[in-house]
Formats: sequence, C-alpha cells, structure tokens
Amino acid sequence: MMRDTSGRTIRYLRLSVTDLCNYRCIYCMEPDGVCKKNHGEILSLEELLEIASACVALGVTKIRLTGGEPLVRRNIVWLCRELKKLPGLEELTLTTNGAYLPRFAQALKASGVDRLNISLDTLDPARYRAITRTGELKGALSGLAAAEAAGFTDTKINAVLLGGVNDGDIPALARLARDRAVSVRFIELMPMGVCRDWERERFISADAVRKALPELRYLDSDGVAERYTAPDWAGTVGLIRPVSHRFCRQCDRIRVTAEGRLKPCLHSATEIALRGLHGEALREAILRGVQAKPAHHELLETGSQSGRAMYEIGG
Ligand code: SAM
Ligand code: SF4
Repeated sequence: MMRDTSGRTIRYLRLSVTDLCNYRCIYCMEPDGVCKKNHGEILSLEELLEIASACVALGVTKIRLTGGEPLVRRNIVWLCRELKKLPGLEELTLTTNGAYLPRFAQALKASGVDRLNISLDTLDPARYRAITRTGELKGALSGLAAAEAAGFTDTKINAVLLGGVNDGDIPALARLARDRAVSVRFIELMPMGVCRDWERERFISADAVRKALPELRYLDSDGVAERYTAPDWAGTVGLIRPVSHRFCRQCDRIRVTAEGRLKPCLHSATEIALRGLHGEALREAILRGVQAKPAHHELLETGSQSGRAMYEIGG
C-alpha cells in the first residue's frame, strides 16, 4: 500500500499513452497541434506495462488510460488486454474524445476495459467543430452509440465549461442523462497550458449548471464529483470543481506522462523520471513520487505550476 505524507492512500494511476491527438481543442492545444516527438521519446507499450505493473504491485487498484487521444496509439487494445491481467488491478478505464470508438469499442470491451469517459463539450455541430477545431459532432455521437452497442455501461460524458462558448449547451448536454443511464459531468476549466492566460469570463463556476437546471436534486458525492439527478431521469449530472472547491484532501492519484515522468500532482512542477528504471529502482522512484505529493495545489493562489499542457498529462 502506498501512503503519502498527508496520510492519503494512493490507489489510482492515470497513464498517458501518447501526447498526440486527432483533435486540437481550443483550451488544450495550439492550432497546429503537437510537434511529433521522436518515436523513441514516448514509452513503448512494454515500458508502459512495466510501469503500470510496478504501480499495481505497490497498491494501485485503478488505472485510467488517457493522452492526447489514447485511441490514436497503435496496439492500444493489446496494452488494455495485458493491463487487465495484472493481479490486483480492479478497474481499467479509458478517457477518449470518442471519434475512434466506432472502430474500437468492441475490441476495448473484449480486452477487459471496464468503463469509458467520453469528452463532449457541446451538442451543436458548428460549435463542436469550433471547439475541437478538427472534430465532427456526429463522430463523437457515433462513438457514444458504439460504446453502448459494445455493452459499456455507466459511461461518463465529460463537458468542460467554457464561459461565453458552451454555457448555453448546459441543458441539452445534461439531458443526455435524462434518457440514458449515463453520468454527464461538467468540469470547471483549469487555467493551464494554452488557456492559462485566457480572459476571466471563460472560467465559470459549476454553479452555472445548478442555475440552468433548477430541477436537479443533490444525490451524493463520489469524491471528485457532486452528483445530482431529477425525477424520472435515467442517469445523473456531476459537477467537478477543481477550481472553486479543491478536492485535494481526497486525492488518491498519481499520473505518468507518455515520456515516463511521474507527476505526483497535476498542478505541481515536480516530476520523477521513471524511464529506464526496472525492478527495485523503479519501485523506489514511484515511492519517491508518492512522497513528493503536495498536500494541495495552489491553482487560485499562484496558478498551475505544472509547466505542461493537458494533452501531455492526460487530465
Ligand atoms: N483526448 C481525450 C479526451 O479529450 O477525452 C483524453 C485526454 S484530454 C486531455 C482529457 C480531458 O481533459 C478532456 O475531457 C478534456 O476536456 C479535459 N481538459 C483538457 N484541458 C482542460 C483544462 N484546461 N481544464 C479542464 N479540463 C481540461
Ligand atoms: Fe485532444 Fe483531448 Fe486535448 Fe481535445 S482535450 S485536444 S481531444 S487531448
């Protein structure tokens, strides 16, 4: 079991498998995307598996694959299948923009992926294009349908709140949870990477969702999300407030970037290089990372100290 200096038990690894993406979301990437790293700078699938395996042996029970877009990584299904074999791993999940789910949903399900998070910031085709720069709404909706057809349940749909851009989409997005057993989660935009210096109006509190949907009733809290529902709704609406209510006290996560750097906190500059380490040396480096986990971030006080964009870390 891994315990940090604030007494938190670390059980959750978010593993970025690539920093490449088929989209260029305005709040995440530059318009011309990521300069493709040399193939050798990104961990091989075997290295990703070795790091994940060491974390699971140390007490991690949940892994989320992310990126960049995890489904652009070649042989991602092989990685999922191998991760799922790790003794002690209870849950394997993946966060995706959904565009490649029509191609991959069945294989991901068969490989043992337990649940999916699909990012969807609007249901308006023109706005979807404007936000993602290269994406098409119908691709993401086909992805959602493909996930359902493949048998995925308890899917989470994540929408980042962008003041003046998609606040008008809140009711339509939330109502996806009226007819389907999904959880639509609204996430406050965090000032980092390309949106670090955006104007204040872009950063809106998740309270906007309560105002837009007064019929929502508080249900419970699952750690990072406050959950709400309404009479006769099949699913739930979640509010995730990393900015207005920091949830660092319950944080049980560590992150590993696609280049093999362990980040104890999304917003701290501390990184521990894991690449090239094996056995006891790898174990010790992971434990060092856990010990370096700060008690809380200082997003409001000093801004994110991460020095990395979201597509490099995986969210
Ligand atoms: N490409 C995949 C996707 O979009 O789902 C996985 C990686 S993406 C970096 C993970 C999540 O981070 C997405 O839901 C995205 O909307 C969110 N995200 C990116 N930048 C963010 C920011 N500055 N604040 C809050 N969420 C952000
Ligand atoms: Fe790609 Fe996800 Fe970033 Fe959008 S949020 S550019 S889909 S990594």
